[in-house]
Amino acid sequence: MAKKVLIIGGGVAGMSAGIYSAMNGFDTEIIEMHTVAGGQCTAWDRKGFRFDYCLHWLVGTSKGAFHDIWKETNVINRGTEIIDHEIHSRIVDNDGKEFIIYSNIDRWEQYLIGIAPEDEKKIKKMCNDMRKSGLLEPFALPPELRKPLDYIRIIPVMLPIFNLIRKFGRLTCKEYFDKLNFKSEKIRWAFNAMYGERNFSALAFIFMLAWFNQNNAGYIKGGSFPLAQRMLEKFKDVGGNISYNKKAEKIIVENNKAVGVVLTNGTRMLSDYVISTADGYTTIYKMLEGKYVSKKVDYAYKNWELFTSLVQVSFGVNKIVKSESPIIINTSKDLKIGRTRLENGYSIMNYSYDNTMSPDGKTTIVMRYESPWKIWENLEGDDYKNEKIQIEKDAISCLETVYPGISAFVDVVDVATPKTDVRFTGVKNGAYEGFMPTKENMMKTLDMTLPKLQHFYMAGQWLFPGGGLPPSAQTGKWVVQLICKKEKTKFITTK
Ligand SMILES: Cc1cc2nc3c(=O)[nH]c(=O)nc-3n(C[C@H](O)[C@H](O)[C@H](O)COP(=O)(O)OP(=O)(O)OC[C@H]3O[C@@H](n4cnc5c(N)ncnc54)[C@H](O)[C@@H]3O)c2cc1C
Repeated sequence: MAKKVLIIGGGVAGMSAGIYSAMNGFDTEIIEMHTVAGGQCTAWDRKGFRFDYCLHWLVGTSKGAFHDIWKETNVINRGTEIIDHEIHSRIVDNDGKEFIIYSNIDRWEQYLIGIAPEDEKKIKKMCNDMRKSGLLEPFALPPELRKPLDYIRIIPVMLPIFNLIRKFGRLTCKEYFDKLNFKSEKIRWAFNAMYGERNFSALAFIFMLAWFNQNNAGYIKGGSFPLAQRMLEKFKDVGGNISYNKKAEKIIVENNKAVGVVLTNGTRMLSDYVISTADGYTTIYKMLEGKYVSKKVDYAYKNWELFTSLVQVSFGVNKIVKSESPIIINTSKDLKIGRTRLENGYSIMNYSYDNTMSPDGKTTIVMRYESPWKIWENLEGDDYKNEKIQIEKDAISCLETVYPGISAFVDVVDVATPKTDVRFTGVKNGAYEGFMPTKENMMKTLDMTLPKLQHFYMAGQWLFPGGGLPPSAQTGKWVVQLICKKEKTKFITTK
């Protein structure tokens, strides 16, 4: 009889683990506490408009180990349309300043030299660092299954990257830009406005633009919801079973071996293996009562910074509003929306490039801003409702600054708060991508197993600082590779 694999959580990590597990012949069941699969990779519909909560880029749309995963899990198939934007984002402020980040590094370099010829040498240096980091290739195999040859093979290709890691691995963006010491006021303003005093890793910035430069971080037409549905379809096709409205409360452990889960309604579900893709903190410290924690894991969960939670205000606009840039970031200081003082401004995502997001002749526009969890933690009842009403008003006036006159055409407004994210996905403090990639943790990862606990694995965004869809899906694949190794069966990626 096939061994049973029980997966907690039907987000991208859970579905990836589920697909590979079922493909490899395990009797696979996902238990999901919500009524739909996808986790944070989701969207919702209001009066014909679709409001996307996740996808604006997907690393691995054209090549590499992530691309293989997207094809194997049906995220990318023959019918998938990928959009590579020419402009990555446009930075503005209320005083009329403007700065553009192009996806193509050569194009961006030209633009930067055009606005700051005095910084030509430094601009070229920065852009070269980005080009070099394009050589970065994610490993196909989990660390536990790599052989020395796997490392030796990549040394010649990766040498320039090791050099970058050595030079910038322990710098924040601010420290990196200070080091470059641009003379141009405009460049200094833009970089400071984007990253300011944030402990955001310089390497994360450099690597991110390299993916775009290679057209390997595109937007998938249709966005998050159909992406998750395609994974779900694949999971069912390969024989997996998913059940909704089931929340795991505890992982059952016998003799240091995970043998199933107890749901919040008291039901016990037994299995040969348990994989948790639910929130990392909840899994380790609540479902497992903190009994299987290494020093490294404990340190990470106590010390590593989390992504600041987000408020998303989505607008259904009753006319076509075009935008050259898919993302506009207004970095003006001293703005306030509801109770939140905007330390890092707000972003506007104009989806006019994707006609599946709104009815003909209309446009979906989404605004996001960081709003620390402490503002939301204890906000309940009327205070919560009133805050959402205030946010709606303030957000519309911000939108007016970017698109004057637009408020007369706003048909629908929808406010999703950090509490919404926590309620539907259980993610700790609304930290939507888990641990922030900082100069301390950028090159670190957490293990998929816990010390002394057999037959239990973790997958998902909490294992890689920076989170995101690719590491979530990748760790989903990796845990099944580890289980196959344990079961002494050959890991396969088709069925
Ligand atoms: C606004 C926003 C924009 C983003 N943009 C991008 C982007 O452009 N590109 C990118 O790569 N990434 C992006 N991300 C990040 C990406 O969405 C996440 O990193 C990824 O979806 C995490 O997947 P996961 O499966 O690890 O976790 P989750 O999506 O959090 O899934 C966990 C699942 O487990 C379920 N669950 C939790 N607890 C239990 C329980 N006790 N019992 C049963 N089920 C449980 C939840 O309901 C959920 O379905 C974005 C995220 C947000 C919020």
